[in-house]
Amino acid sequence: MIIAVDGPAASGKGLLSTLIAKKLDLVRLDTGLLYRAVGQALPDSVDLKIDKKIVINAAKNLKISDLENPALKSENSGVVASKVAVIPEVRQYLLKFQQKFGKNMPFGKRGVILDGRDIGTVVFPNADHKIFLTANANIRAQRRFAELGKKGIKVKYSRVLDDIISRDERDLERDISPLVMAEDAFLIDSSNLKPNQVLDIAIKYIFRDDKV
Ligand code: C5P
Repeated sequence: MIIAVDGPAASGKGLLSTLIAKKLDLVRLDTGLLYRAVGQALPDSVDLKIDKKIVINAAKNLKISDLENPALKSENSGVVASKVAVIPEVRQYLLKFQQKFGKNMPFGKRGVILDGRDIGTVVFPNADHKIFLTANANIRAQRRFAELGKKGIKVKYSRVLDDIISRDERDLERDISPLVMAEDAFLIDSSNLKPNQVLDIAIKYIFRDDKV
């Protein structure tokens, strides 16, 4: 079984995918980490518009162990990720990586769940179940701000909101694999929902018609 979960930054895709994976015994791939790891592999001096070859090589040589770096969780890592994500060759290499992951499911698991921006549209257009999770930008920024606060990271709320809005713009407006809901995806707006309520709605959808 393949489940695709797409949606904008800080919509709660990660938490929802982790909870579904636990409940249904699936392996999860947070595909945002791939783009973050490509950004992380670059020297500080790199100019993303000029040194495209360096960026493309980082995508080509990406390993699953690169995804374990805790630095990938930072806000800045997400901003750089959204910049490398507009490069078509980077997406091409990462597409292969994701499709390979989906096809080589570990023995004994029931399936895989991938969360990102283009899983249901490009990576696995034939996924068994597709969820598009969204929430309004202010609520996403408030959640992200609270999360960072809990981790002791000091940042201005206005900066978090600005980052979310500019990442939304880059993700929605890029030419290749923009953030768009697949026609056959199930939409959940989590603006006024708690994580467990979102999980219940998602599980009901996955078990619709007993199609699991
Ligand atoms: O999901 P996360 O916020 O970690 O993703 C970081 C960035 O990586 C996104 O803003 C987006 O530009 C890019 N991304 C993407 N396609 C995916 C996953 C992430 O373009 N499937």
